[in-house]
Amino acid sequence: MTKVVIIGSGIVGSSIAYELSNYPQFDIILIDANNPATGSTGAALGVFMGIISRKKRGRGWRLRESSLRRYITLIPELEKLTGISIPSNNDGIVKLLFSSEEMGIYEKLAQARSRKGYELNIWQPQVLKDYCPEVDTSSVAGAVYSPNDKQINPTILNKALVKGASLRGVQCLFGEKVEKIASINNRQDCREIHLKTKTLSADWVILATALGTSDLIKSLGSNFTVNPVLGQALLIQHKNWKHKVDFNPVINGNDIHLVPIQNNEFWLGATVEFPTEETLLMPDEALLIKLHQKAISFLPSLENASIIMSWTGKRPRPEGKPSPVIEKLGDYSNIILATGHYRNGILLAPATAESVIEMILQ
Ligand SMILES: Cc1cc2nc3c(=O)[nH]c(=O)nc-3n(C[C@H](O)[C@H](O)[C@H](O)COP(=O)(O)OP(=O)(O)OC[C@H]3O[C@@H](n4cnc5c(N)ncnc54)[C@H](O)[C@@H]3O)c2cc1C
Repeated sequence: MTKVVIIGSGIVGSSIAYELSNYPQFDIILIDANNPATGSTGAALGVFMGIISRKKRGRGWRLRESSLRRYITLIPELEKLTGISIPSNNDGIVKLLFSSEEMGIYEKLAQARSRKGYELNIWQPQVLKDYCPEVDTSSVAGAVYSPNDKQINPTILNKALVKGASLRGVQCLFGEKVEKIASINNRQDCREIHLKTKTLSADWVILATALGTSDLIKSLGSNFTVNPVLGQALLIQHKNWKHKVDFNPVINGNDIHLVPIQNNEFWLGATVEFPTEETLLMPDEALLIKLHQKAISFLPSLENASIIMSWTGKRPRPEGKPSPVIEKLGDYSNIILATGHYRNGILLAPATAESVIEMILQ
């Protein structure tokens, strides 16, 4: 059996563990210093900006396309295997467009998607008003609607992936921080995973460690860094939200998502806050208020919604490399980085797992 140690049980590590557990030749251990879904994944909104994203070709589009394809089968498969029901919004995403120039860009994108068999609909303001009566259409030029993009609860999905992996034989070690990974005799492969109380051996080491990546690879001579970008979001309740019967999609405007969940509740987010040299990464309350105000400018009745709570999370953003980073670490033959998913880790987790498995099987 080939021993694979996956470090990090967020959405990325747990997706890799689950998909790899389909191959009988691997003996898999999934390790995390904390519990699953307590890192970046636990803060995410779970919106898949896939077909509606402006990526048309290259790696960015390929990863999106293969993730979207896998998600269609993955969710029912996981629900059946684990008995966990994974909440999702399958009404698609409506992205508000604020100028005729933007309308033109998305008209062209809709044509490009249509050539590949994907649907994007361009809505003039009166159509938008009919489908989304809460939008103040005087402030927009129109909208683009993507019926096949969706939103999913990332925490529950993460837990289902871990349960599914474990049911298929993956050994899970949670509450165990990896202190160091080490090569033997200075060779360019890594065989030892040092935990506080024990050392594990491995044929392959997968680092799905997001913001923990830089610390772990320093001792292997790498100065690649993954930096935090903070996001704040709100849980709000809006008892008089108007929507069409059986149609309550995610609405996106000016990079803000309004995600209907249940019981007239919504997630609203998220801010994008970069660390500066002077400040530690502390949530800036003014930015959260600004986010709420911006949303009110196109969804005016949000003014009367009650704020139930707010939360923050840190997105893992790679420095000097495009996101996400899925590659071997430097000259090491058996260490794979699966990290730095920044704003799209929930969407890109299945494609990441596919790429990592391809590298191992090669
Ligand atoms: C507010 C917010 C909103 C977001 N919205 C979306 C969205 O709508 N759609 C989307 O696709 N993405 C979204 N994201 C981004 C998404 O959350 C991340 O890209 C994704 O969660 C990254 O997953 P991960 O598994 O790499 O990281 P994580 O979930 O952070 O998991 C990494 C794990 O590694 C463990 N670890 C690290 N170092 C060690 C070590 N030395 N030993 C043991 N364990 C270790 C950590 O404990 C952690 O559990 C959002 C993020 C935020 C903050």
